[in-house]
Amino acid sequence: MMESTQVTPMPLWPPMYTVKKSTRSKQVRLSIHPHTGLTIHLPHRSKYSVDIESLLIKKKSWILKHLASLPPPSLREQIALPAALDLKAIDETWQIEYKFNCTKPSLFAAPGFRLVVLDKAPNLTCSLRLLHTWLKRQAETHLAPWLSQLSLKHNLPFNKVQIRHQKTLWGSCSSAHNIQLNYKLLFLPRNLAEHVLLHELSHTKHLNHSRSFWRLLSQCDPNCAQHNSALRNIESELPAWLYTERLPR
Ligand SMILES: [Zn+2]
Repeated sequence: MMESTQVTPMPLWPPMYTVKKSTRSKQVRLSIHPHTGLTIHLPHRSKYSVDIESLLIKKKSWILKHLASLPPPSLREQIALPAALDLKAIDETWQIEYKFNCTKPSLFAAPGFRLVVLDKAPNLTCSLRLLHTWLKRQAETHLAPWLSQLSLKHNLPFNKVQIRHQKTLWGSCSSAHNIQLNYKLLFLPRNLAEHVLLHELSHTKHLNHSRSFWRLLSQCDPNCAQHNSALRNIESELPAWLYTERLPR
């Protein structure tokens, strides 16, 4: 009998990782993302120094299991023009048509939830940039009024809302009660997007993640804990091209 010579690719050990300090994490946390790999999140004001080497060894089986489940790099990095935008948060699916041999790159919305992207020739960078801009406008149209409604409903007034493309945050709230929302929220299931809006509104009363903050957020969102944990892993389910915010010209 011939022996099989099939090679199973194994993730390298020790793995490549990024360390991020965050005012939001209260404890050391690991995450694995198809686009960024392994990230070690450390609390910003860590009282103790973290021995990363021991941490990696302690979590070795978890890390290896999750790194192995990532798609191969060739697939991960291959970003194609999307055929549709599934905006679950606002219950809209837009089909995209690309038309080339046109004079100037542009994008317009046509009846029946169709987006038409025009360009001289196929150009990934240019088309994706047009889609990012359209999504930002779409978020301004839908997320801003939604935030206002929730603000009135729960009596949590805010000052201004701004839609941005934040790399790591779903949203933020300043001490002046200005709220920033990420337009990637459009791709989340409606209940999770609403949870993020309520999270930021709750920061208008508590500018921290104290017990009082979570108590208030749980009053606004009875499924708070479930939604909060669902959000931790959902990013890997979003389309890869959404992460191309710094496109080369
Ligand atoms: Zn927060």
